[in-house]
Amino acid sequence: MSYRTVNNGELNKSYLNKVVKLCGWVQKIRNLGGMTFVDIRDRYGITQLVFNVDKNPTLFEEARKLGREYVIKVEGTVILRNSINRKMPTGEIEVEVNYLSILNKSKTPPFTIENETDGGDDLRMKYRYLDLRREPIQNNIILRSEVAFHTRNYLRTQGFLEIETPFLIKSTPEGARDFVVPSRLNKGSFYALPQSPQTFKQLLMVSGYDKYYQIVKCFRDEDFRADRQPEFTQIDCEMSFVEIEDILNMFENLIKEIIYKVKGVKIDKVPRIKYSESIRDYGTDKPDIRFEMKVKHLNSVCKGKGFNLFDSSETIVGIVVPGGAEFSRKQIDSLTDWIKKPQIGCSGMIFCKFNTEGRHKSSVDKFFNNEQLESWRSESGANNGDMILILAGDEKSTINAIGLLRIELAERLKLRDPNLFKPVWITDFPLFEFDEKSKKYHAMHHPFTSPNDDDVELLKNDPLKVKAKAYDMALNGTEIGGGSIRIFNKGLQNEVFNLLGFSDVEANEKFGFLMEAFEYGAPPHGGIAFGLDRLCAVISGSDSIRDFIPFPKNNSGKDIMLDTPSKIDDDQLKDLGINID
Ligand code: ASP
Repeated sequence: MSYRTVNNGELNKSYLNKVVKLCGWVQKIRNLGGMTFVDIRDRYGITQLVFNVDKNPTLFEEARKLGREYVIKVEGTVILRNSINRKMPTGEIEVEVNYLSILNKSKTPPFTIENETDGGDDLRMKYRYLDLRREPIQNNIILRSEVAFHTRNYLRTQGFLEIETPFLIKSTPEGARDFVVPSRLNKGSFYALPQSPQTFKQLLMVSGYDKYYQIVKCFRDEDFRADRQPEFTQIDCEMSFVEIEDILNMFENLIKEIIYKVKGVKIDKVPRIKYSESIRDYGTDKPDIRFEMKVKHLNSVCKGKGFNLFDSSETIVGIVVPGGAEFSRKQIDSLTDWIKKPQIGCSGMIFCKFNTEGRHKSSVDKFFNNEQLESWRSESGANNGDMILILAGDEKSTINAIGLLRIELAERLKLRDPNLFKPVWITDFPLFEFDEKSKKYHAMHHPFTSPNDDDVELLKNDPLKVKAKAYDMALNGTEIGGGSIRIFNKGLQNEVFNLLGFSDVEANEKFGFLMEAFEYGAPPHGGIAFGLDRLCAVISGSDSIRDFIPFPKNNSGKDIMLDTPSKIDDDQLKDLGINID
């Protein structure tokens, strides 16, 4: 006898009077006099079962003994419900049960398995397998599977091969620390877990597998930051004989395809914005372009008027809030409090409301007359009835803060429509940034990224001016992927390593295998990687990648369910040649 003939999301009026078999978990039990109603759940939905004392007193008694989350198997007839529930796909029918078997009992779950659960974060993490029974999380996991499926499908039709690369490797530089694995057979030596398959995919290009991809785990031992996971999944891709344009076309079509397939939304154009313009106009290199509200640069109209704060600031920038002249004192105060939060780090904010009668009202009326405020209005392109919020300070942190303020305002004004998808390419990144602390150049993307052909000469005397053949894709204000055209010439790769502070010996020790491979006919190549977890979160309009990972770590990198990281036996340590005092 088979366990089930239908699932719990399937039955409707077309099954009336049919005999069906169902399996699932008990969601809810309601006893109403001579009737007992049991909701049975699986990942497809919920079906209402009915047990009638008059029709089958023994079964009726059995049903009363069921508990939440019991696993049961039933057989019964599909009948019309007395009170129809239009909100449920199975809401027109119920199943009158003639056979019931308890396949397994369940302890009372530590939190309710409902869409809105009463379980706190830690409890849900400890019992992740129960949390995964909840519909919102299940939908995320199903979406993730769909995204992976459409990715594979698209890349296959484009001629890509899915090729695995090893996990026990040597360091790959993506800017984080490596997780390391001690070797028992080579005591005192360690493998590193890959921060990405970067070097391997480049080697595959040398081997002639000109279109590679892999949906692959990456490991980065970073300091804990909200919404970072030490292990996460990338859609990792590489192609040979390509220029930037080929990569952008290939992969914007991938993202379009995914969003169309899982959300039914067609995206026609993916705009391209240069890094410097993105920073200038949005205060970030991952702009949310679902709404305008570009950053306005106001040095020319604000400086030199005797207002000390402005005169002593490197950068004065503003955001025009459409209709903002109507903002109350309370609304402005709440934004001022927000901007002073340590994560944002501003000491204050200046506002100016542009009133329709042409008499503007600002928080610095004492220092600026109406005519001067009018010049703010025309410089920023504000309309009467709008308000401008202004931040001043050193360039880097003020631009960063105005970018965050732009997002916060859009959030408060509900301008971030979750049903809109606006991917954007960011291009023309600098190859290096200079780290003041270590007084060293850092690769902005990674050390294998090619400089622009025209900029190679600048490597010698003005490295910070060198632009990279690198690109990121941002979707709705989140970076979802990035990549570059690679260096494929040993001499140039060496030069970049030297600039990054590796001596020839160090470069050779770390990446000698790659540089040697470059001497055996490396083709021009480039690629990209998308963060699968994050892509799923952004597509769902969620901030949390954790909800899209079946078994995530918590914010301190712990798996509460497994209680790990954890100690290992002394014997094991000895075997590995590791001494811990
Ligand atoms: N390996 C890079 C990363 O993980 C992506 C790439 O350059 O293809 O960010």
